[in-house]
Amino acid sequence: MVSQTVVAGNWKMNLGPVEAAKFARELKLPRGSTSEVILFPPALSLAALKEGLGPDSGVALGVQNVHWEEAGAFTGEISVPMAMQAGATFVLVGHSERRHVFGEADDAVSQKVEAVLSGGLTPVLCVGETLEERKRDQVAEVILRQLEAVLGPQDIRSKLVAGSRLFVAYEPVWAIGTGETATPADASRAHGILRDRLRERLGDDVGEAVPILYGGSVKPDNAGELLAAPEVNGVLVGGASLDPASFAEIVVQSS
Ligand code: PEP
Repeated sequence: MVSQTVVAGNWKMNLGPVEAAKFARELKLPRGSTSEVILFPPALSLAALKEGLGPDSGVALGVQNVHWEEAGAFTGEISVPMAMQAGATFVLVGHSERRHVFGEADDAVSQKVEAVLSGGLTPVLCVGETLEERKRDQVAEVILRQLEAVLGPQDIRSKLVAGSRLFVAYEPVWAIGTGETATPADASRAHGILRDRLRERLGDDVGEAVPILYGGSVKPDNAGELLAAPEVNGVLVGGASLDPASFAEIVVQSS
């Protein structure tokens, strides 16, 4: 069983350190919320956001990408230990923009998940089909291939069975940043397919405890119905997470 609803915000390449500090000042989350709240600012803004939120905000922080090596000649990259030192506890892996804009393939996603788990952080694995794949009726095939790249390696499965956490986010590519949203029924269907595979690969207890979030144009006015859909354990919010009031409103609806 997934114990807490998750509301995560992916800022993408928006809000530098100055704007992140302003966001922290303006964010008013509902008191006593039972949801797990996570923000993924750009790595350069993480320190300012962390300082602005303070130690008791109840908001966990993550980075949007990492390299799988710990250090070395990889200009422009950041590593898991660096993210950890900066205060991140989560890492987005395989976001559709990483896959489709930067050409990140399943094997790189798998190496990153392995590195994140080895470093003691929690990966949020993003999976989702393009519009063309959807039209070809390949939703299950695509999302299971992307999930299997991570559940296939024995090393990763062993870590998960031994207690490391994994989150999965179903984000249909055609719904990201477009204003188009999957229907709650579509989201439930895709989440059910992912859940079955998680159970099969990790056993019932571990497989059932993996939160599966929906992402793709989630806004305050559609978050409630998506969060109420069977098998939807939370949301990953892009554009609407840039505004503290909209993000807080989604957290209210999740509680
Ligand atoms: C995302 O970036 O993961 C996302 C879902 O974006 P948006 O909510 O803007 O579609």
